[in-house]
Amino acid sequence: METKVAKKKLGLKDRYKLLTRDLGWEPSYHTKDEVFPYVKYEGIKIHDWEKWEDPFRLTMDAYWKYQAEKERKFYAIIDAHTQNNGHLNLTDARYLSALKLFLQAISPGEYAAGKGFARVGREFGGVGTQVACQMQALDEIRHAQTQIHAMSNYNRYYNGFHSFADQRDRMWYTSVPRSFFDDAMSAGPFEFMIAIGFSFEYVLTNLLFVPFMSGAAYNGDMATVTFGFSAQSDEARHMTLGLECIKFMLEQDPANTPIVQAWIDKWFWRGFRVLGLVSAMMDYMLPKRVMSWREAWNIYGVENGGALFTDLARYGIRIPKHWDDAEKAVDHMSHQFMLALYQWNFGTCFHTWIPPEPDMEWLSSKYPNTFDKYYRPRWEHLKKLAKEGKPFKNFGLAKLCQTCQLPIIFTEPDDPTMSCHREVDYKGNKYHFCSDGCQHIFENEPEKYVQAWLPMPALFQEPLKGDLGAWMNWTSLIDGKDNGDYVGSQDERNFQQWRGLATTNT
Ligand code: FE
Ligand code: ZN
Repeated sequence: METKVAKKKLGLKDRYKLLTRDLGWEPSYHTKDEVFPYVKYEGIKIHDWEKWEDPFRLTMDAYWKYQAEKERKFYAIIDAHTQNNGHLNLTDARYLSALKLFLQAISPGEYAAGKGFARVGREFGGVGTQVACQMQALDEIRHAQTQIHAMSNYNRYYNGFHSFADQRDRMWYTSVPRSFFDDAMSAGPFEFMIAIGFSFEYVLTNLLFVPFMSGAAYNGDMATVTFGFSAQSDEARHMTLGLECIKFMLEQDPANTPIVQAWIDKWFWRGFRVLGLVSAMMDYMLPKRVMSWREAWNIYGVENGGALFTDLARYGIRIPKHWDDAEKAVDHMSHQFMLALYQWNFGTCFHTWIPPEPDMEWLSSKYPNTFDKYYRPRWEHLKKLAKEGKPFKNFGLAKLCQTCQLPIIFTEPDDPTMSCHREVDYKGNKYHFCSDGCQHIFENEPEKYVQAWLPMPALFQEPLKGDLGAWMNWTSLIDGKDNGDYVGSQDERNFQQWRGLATTNT
């Protein structure tokens, strides 16, 4: 007769140790430097990889179990949303512009983060680090997939969702986040961790996801709320990983501090520039708004960011270099951004509009020092032109910033009536910048940024040669449907008609 022997169950900590530390080995026929060639070239000194505390502490089987559970819930809700015509529960189809922008500009960033983490997982020397990066790589791919799936339902009914992958590569406004990720992915592994783990996860995600997801809930978009919840539980891990990496570098060697500081300066400003898109989404594109961009900045930028830098001060880290310029820009950027998107809206794969009067009142109450003084008069002027049948469109090509790739649309930090423009001569060529922050980033690595692909010059190169129609074909923008004013658009007409059918007897 056999006796059953009770198997001794290992604790989570022990199982995790088996998964990581005990899987690492010393290479015998290659040196460590040959196996991990990129670990040293950024100048970061690591003395003991074992000191890396991976905040995930997940075994692979636990990881799959958690994620599978979330997927089941996610797809059940998406299914219900689709079957019940969830799109008709939106407050207004203007809201969809924010979603289109998200799909074209942010979801491809999730995918890029996935590729980047897969790469740095290979490049780092420590096993804890490798496993954490592998899991984050999987998370990010999943985020891209769930976002695309959640929004694909809108693609059946509305314009502007159909070619986000082409637009990711070719659109002028998506080149802003794309260049952010390309910059990160072409950096060394430690810089990548600051770019994504600190700038994208810490600076951007809080300001992007938290207000954006509550914005989705406020505006009746259950599909987006669902992918938001599914992603947000990963984000907490991601932020911890980014912070853990920063602290690890700072604790390993004091010589790392100036390198880390320079990356924090750079990636704070790059992240802040990408947030320009988010500020316009929050202040202008949500028909029902949760909070203003300024209010979100006060909570997630000033309060949370402030606490983070107080915490890092004991390592000799100070607040990012261009923090004050950012603070001065907060009351202006969403207005400057939306005005730019409006005047170039023949070239956007989403709709924009002149804010209706109640929106203008909301904006002036949220921006008491800037809106009525600088921006309402411009909107009133544009309104007048539109009424006269001569809506203002800017067919001139904007000068682009060589670093962040945004058009030069911002003003001087201390003078909101002066356009902010910087110029640098480098090896016989002139380069333009939107700000001191972007100029300094260029000057630290000019050889990197002179290679940047800029969308405006591309319009004049083969095969487009300045032809706007050819450009629209090339970016898969359907003229008259995807672009232009929301008022009078097919999206507006369809939404009102379908909603009318669903809620009345006519
Ligand atoms: Fe993500
Ligand atoms: Zn710039």
